[in-house]
Amino acid sequence: MSKPNDTQPARSPLLPVRLNADDKIQFNCHKGIACFNACCKNIDITLTPYDIVRLKNRLGMTSYEFLATRTTRFEMDAHGVPGVKLRTQNGSSACQFLTEDGCSVYPDRPTACRYYALGTVSMRKVGTSSEEDFYFVVKEDHCLGHQEPKVQTVREYREEQGVDRYDEANKEWRQIVLKKRSCGPTVGKPSARSLDFFYLCSYDVDGLREFVKSHGFYEVFDFDDAAIRELMDDEIALMQFGFRLLKQVLFGEMTIALKHDARDRRVERRRQLAAQAPKPASE
Ligand code: SF4
Ligand code: SF4
Repeated sequence: MSKPNDTQPARSPLLPVRLNADDKIQFNCHKGIACFNACCKNIDITLTPYDIVRLKNRLGMTSYEFLATRTTRFEMDAHGVPGVKLRTQNGSSACQFLTEDGCSVYPDRPTACRYYALGTVSMRKVGTSSEEDFYFVVKEDHCLGHQEPKVQTVREYREEQGVDRYDEANKEWRQIVLKKRSCGPTVGKPSARSLDFFYLCSYDVDGLREFVKSHGFYEVFDFDDAAIRELMDDEIALMQFGFRLLKQVLFGEMTIALKHDARDRRVERRRQLAAQAPKPASE
């Protein structure tokens, strides 16, 4: 199962028909179908930030533990922007969450699993600042759901699968990925530090929490204590704050005020650290 979308090149055969939310599709997936879970036996699933929050909470892990044990990192573009894929079971291409009874994380399954057998593409028209989403049917030989009689609109299917909540939570992040891609070489290759920051803000929400609580954050950003406490209490708000930080770092979209003496403080701190560093032994 792979979801051809804006963060992942399409690899499944697509019916070349562009669908809007009110177009109808004939498809049904249910436990009694002969191919049940066939799609989970050969996966290539790119995770979104909200997917990771849902899955790591379901498993009772920190995001760091989840990323380290359940995912693999890959490069989403030629500049090395990091993406994260769900690991498969050892020695096979089956999903790690697949059991004899089906999906063991079903209520928190990733966006890609919810969309399937739909693909989605977001495009920004030249001269506009908003994206337009459209859809495709993904038809793979092993999937018998297309032979079922159930007909519904794309909108109804999205509702049934709970996709809206996921898309809404990931919206700003998808915009960042799209913008980075559409800017191409004009934005230039982000530094290794910026790429690490992308990973932190996109996938490691518990690491981001530590960063927002850190002295380094306090030194640079003009953010009052009450606002920080709110972020500490609301993981989704924290995740979305991370997207704002990313826009600021990658594209210079300044929505979080900086302390007026932030640069001087950083220089002074580096000077102090350098002064404290052990001196090389004199000859
Ligand atoms: S998360 Fe669940 S639905 Fe998605 S591929 Fe794995 S087993 Fe299948
Ligand atoms: S109908 Fe398609 S999506 Fe549903 S279990 Fe079968 S292969 Fe998977």
